[in-house]
Amino acid sequence: MHIGIYGTGQLARMMAHDGKKLGATFSFIAEPNDDVSAIKGLGEQVMFSGSESAEAIFKALGEPEVITVEKEAVDVPLLRDLQKLCRVSPNPDVLEITQHRLREKNFLNKIGIPTAGYAEANSASDVTKAIEALGIPVAVKSIEQGYDGKNQWHLKTEADVEKFLETYNSSPLIIEQWVPFEAEVSLIAARSLAGDIAFYAMAYNEHRGGILISSIVPAKNYQEKFTKRAQEYLRKILTESDYVGVLSMECFVKGDELLVNELAPRVHNSGHWSQAGTACSQFENAIRAVMGIELGNTELNGPTAMLNLLGKEVAQSDITIPNAQLHWYDKQCKPKRKVGHINFQHEDYAELEKNLAALEKQVYQDN
Ligand code: ATP
Ligand code: MG
Ligand code: MG
Repeated sequence: MHIGIYGTGQLARMMAHDGKKLGATFSFIAEPNDDVSAIKGLGEQVMFSGSESAEAIFKALGEPEVITVEKEAVDVPLLRDLQKLCRVSPNPDVLEITQHRLREKNFLNKIGIPTAGYAEANSASDVTKAIEALGIPVAVKSIEQGYDGKNQWHLKTEADVEKFLETYNSSPLIIEQWVPFEAEVSLIAARSLAGDIAFYAMAYNEHRGGILISSIVPAKNYQEKFTKRAQEYLRKILTESDYVGVLSMECFVKGDELLVNELAPRVHNSGHWSQAGTACSQFENAIRAVMGIELGNTELNGPTAMLNLLGKEVAQSDITIPNAQLHWYDKQCKPKRKVGHINFQHEDYAELEKNLAALEKQVYQDN
């Protein structure tokens, strides 16, 4: 089966890599500023700069049977036009929701899934009003086009608010109540064309400067306490949106509360561990789902951790902890850029945590 992937980064790379094992072939929709080095050799790249017709893109892609995505910021009208020519999974309606933080939070709240309090702002007076209503601190985010903590400001004091307003240009924002969370966890699931759902184990995630640095599964003591609830939420999201593919749900844990931070309509960095910790990785299941075949086994085969390489060049031979598997994306190494990750396992959870701390120290010794 021939599959088109919208996007050209490491997520597209790993989906294509796993999909090839299933006999699928790939081509990719690239946008003008996309770095295509991660998908080199994996299939044709087709440029979409905004003016090409869906028919022309479809033809240049090699008439795929299905098109899927590796990022939120996709051109939804284009995908709606492509949908007249082939299947698009996940469907453009859900992509329209998840690429827009306000629509996403409205959707979650409509179906009864708790989030932090939030308000929309399109002017300085909206910002002031929202902050009055929500209280300081707040997280201010652009409604669209944000990832890895980009286009996001954490305002902790009145002075921060004043400073923010000095340069604010009335672009659309969402203002969220700051959640003094105890932990961040995520849950990832695949939903097949037939409607079957397979959940991965809950991951415990650490961020640094708004960017994911590591994940560990099972998610410490949160796994037991919150898995059932998180699965209920995610099942609801998947079925309400008639989702086909892999969907990721990032959550904050605060006492007994589980608040959803955001959704990602794709494979997710906090699921990279599944390459080592399950028989069927999130990448393979994303492809299985959109191909319309049965999902693979997502059961956790033992404690597993993942460390992101953020602007750090590491070779397999540099890694001193046992059972480590380097995944290098063949991208140019730039500060804070995701250029690879390392998965590793240990049957003893405490030892795995120790290895994660040691590896993190080794990789990031200079900062
Ligand atoms: P991603 O790369 O995961 O898509 P993103 O740029 O979409 O990231 P968020 O996930 O919204 O951004 O935020 C990044 C991080 O900032 C979160 O993982 C969390 O650590 C912190 N954060 C975001 N919003 C809040 C909030 N309302 N309260 C507390 N912390 C927050
Ligand atoms: Mg995000
Ligand atoms: Mg996030």
